[in-house]
Formats: sequence, structure tokens, C-alpha cells
Amino acid sequence: MPLIFEVGDKVTLKKPHPCGSKDFEIVRMGADFRIKCLGCEKELWLSRRKLERRTRKIYRNGERLKKSDIERE
Ligand SMILES: [Zn+2]
Repeated sequence: MPLIFEVGDKVTLKKPHPCGSKDFEIVRMGADFRIKCLGCEKELWLSRRKLERRTRKIYRNGERLKKSDIERE
């Protein structure tokens, strides 16, 4: 099921960035997603598929969302 992310969402991924942080912010969306590591501020591209698979936690406006909350039916 595809997830409906928004720019500004913060996600905790299963795999850490080389700097050790697992927390990222979504900064651009398209066919691929641009995400910024909140540990070292580096930005990287990730395919939608990988982002959806690797996402463990989602925060929007400071609130924790479940994957099922943003799943497209
Ligand atoms: Zn990092």
C-alpha cells in the first residue's frame, strides 16, 4: 500500500545513515524522495519504494503517525 508522505514529515528509518542517525526529514517529493539526515544535515535521494520499506516511525507536526494512518486505500 503506498504511503502518503508530506514535505516536512520526519521519519525514523530502519537503517541508520553513516553518521549514526536514523532520523530524516522529507524535503522534496517526486518519483524519488529527497530526505535530509537530521544527524548531519546531509541530503540524499531515496526511491519511494525504499523509503516506504525502510520507514519505521513517522512524525507530522510533532505527532507520531502510524503507517496505516497515511496509507492510501
Ligand atoms: Zn547523517
